[in-house]
Formats: sequence, C-alpha cells, structure tokens
Amino acid sequence: MKSTHRKSTSYILLATALAAFAACRGTSSPTDPGMPTTPVSLSLSMETAHFRLEYTAQDADKMDAYAAALEANHPRITRDLGQPNLPRITGRFFPDRASYTAATGWDATGSVDGPTMFSVVASPLQLSLPVHEFVHNVALHLNPDAYQTVWLWEATAVFEAEEFVHPATVPCLADGDLPTLAQVSVRTGDCNIYRVGYTIVELIVERWGFAELRALIRADGDTQSVLGLSTREFEAAWEEFVEKRYL
Ligand SMILES: [Zn+2]
Repeated sequence: MKSTHRKSTSYILLATALAAFAACRGTSSPTDPGMPTTPVSLSLSMETAHFRLEYTAQDADKMDAYAAALEANHPRITRDLGQPNLPRITGRFFPDRASYTAATGWDATGSVDGPTMFSVVASPLQLSLPVHEFVHNVALHLNPDAYQTVWLWEATAVFEAEEFVHPATVPCLADGDLPTLAQVSVRTGDCNIYRVGYTIVELIVERWGFAELRALIRADGDTQSVLGLSTREFEAAWEEFVEKRYL
C-alpha cells in the first residue's frame, strides 16, 4: 500500500489499518481524501439469523432482497470454507459510493472491515456484492492474513459468490494467453482477477476438493506444499482446465 497523503498522523494510521483488508473492484489503495466526507448515519438496522444489516431509509426497499441473498448463501459458504460457528456478521450498506468512500477510505464498491464486518454500496441492487464480501469475512476466520494472497483471496470470493464470467468472453482466457497468479494479484486490467478468478477455484475444488481449498487459504496460497504443484505447474493446470472445460 502506498499512501500519498500526509494529512495527519491519525489519517495515516487509519489508512494503514484499512489497507490491512483489501477493497474489491476498485483501486487497491485508499482514495485521496479530497472528496466530500460528510458521514452518513446508517440509522436503520435489521437482524437475520446470521447477519446484522445497517442501512439508510433510502435503501430500505432493497434490504429484504439483500438479507435473503446472504441467508440463502450462508449455509453453502460456511460449509465449503469449514466455518459452521461464525459469529454474527455486520453488513453496512451505504447509499452511494461517496458515502461508502467517506466511511471506509476505499474507492470501491465493497470491502471488509475485519472478520465480522463488511461494507458495500447498496445501490444499484447487486445481490452478489455483499455475498462476495461475506466470503472474505469467512476467509479471515480461516487465516487472518488471507487477504495478502490476492489471487486466492479474490478467486475464492468470486467463486463462492457465484460471479461466473464465461472464459470465452474474456480475451486473455479465450486466446490462451492466461495471466500468471502474480499478474492477477495486481487486480487491475482487462484480465483482472474478478473476471478470471472463478475457474481458478473451480479447478481447485474439482481436482482436489474443498478441504484442499481451505488448506491452501491457510497456507497463504502455497500450491507446492498443499497441492504438490509449483506455481508454474499450477498455472499450466489452470490453462488446461479452462481450455478443456470452456473453450
Ligand atoms: Zn473481493
């Protein structure tokens, strides 16, 4: 994380803390704090079996749908990632990107604030968004440092939130010009992890299983120790899997 602002010591400390948990689908560093920072109060809340959701009146009409999506996916995600006894997770739903950014420091649409809280932009309705962030919460229970292995961190969230993008529609995959795990870990570009990550975890769970996915998350993505493949061998296996399955 590179911070260019020097506004105050407290801001820098805050930015450092925020950088500990990467935001999704946005820049990978906290934004310049030049934009309006009027905090929005999430004055309404609802509790479901496994979540506490905080939001504003502006989004009240969307919250039943978000709650249903989270609850519908909770059993599968906690089973796949082996976390049946999670504490209640708090989801913060901000009315727009400006208020989200003011509260979190991220120029993005979603992020996690540690293992038991996530924040998202509520509008427009995008049901997979809080589910994706919830997967990150669960992964942090497996490994508090899981966010540092970006390719596996995001690929797991994309797969478990069922954000499938067909490889035939992603030029780097369709052309057989697959990125390396190191390349997708920078998050940006046409061939970014959000577009290509699904099949990485699909390969892991189909060939080795969810226990090995969990072991890999715990091992900071060390494919050699968990799967018996070097990074290069794993990348080759991924390319072969994508070609045979989808192209
Ligand atoms: Zn993510």
